[in-house]
Amino acid sequence: MIRIGQGYDVHKLATGRKLILCGVPVPHPTGLLGHSDADVAVHALMDAILGALALGDIGQWFPDSDPAWKDADSMKLLRAVMADPRVSEWEIGNLDLTIIAQKPKLLPFNLEMRTNLARALDLPLDRISVKATTTEKLGFEGREEGIAASCVVLLEKQA
Ligand code: MG
Repeated sequence: MIRIGQGYDVHKLATGRKLILCGVPVPHPTGLLGHSDADVAVHALMDAILGALALGDIGQWFPDSDPAWKDADSMKLLRAVMADPRVSEWEIGNLDLTIIAQKPKLLPFNLEMRTNLARALDLPLDRISVKATTTEKLGFEGREEGIAASCVVLLEKQA
């Protein structure tokens, strides 16, 4: 049995915040604003996994009204999602994640981001795609007001 899911997320850029993408701190004058560490890429990935299994969304799993998730490490939230018995009976066939940001250039961090996800998900690197694109300076991403991420994931039921 296979399932497909997609996730999308946006966070606003602000000064005085760290920019964390796929758990990797990326040097940049601004970072993403949010209740957790605002790792927009990992949020899109978690929503794709939850979406594939019709298990709601991360807002339901980790409400931003709950102080427990204040400044939470999104990689830890990802591990918590994967450890849930409703999720752990499925294996990720592959995932394809796109980060939409005008700046900074993310290619220098690509392998580290993929490696980080591979470790958290216990998957080989060739099942994990992380891509980055700009919007040619159009829209909120282009104006560097925020960063968006979109993710598609294929899940296969474990034998
Ligand atoms: Mg989010």
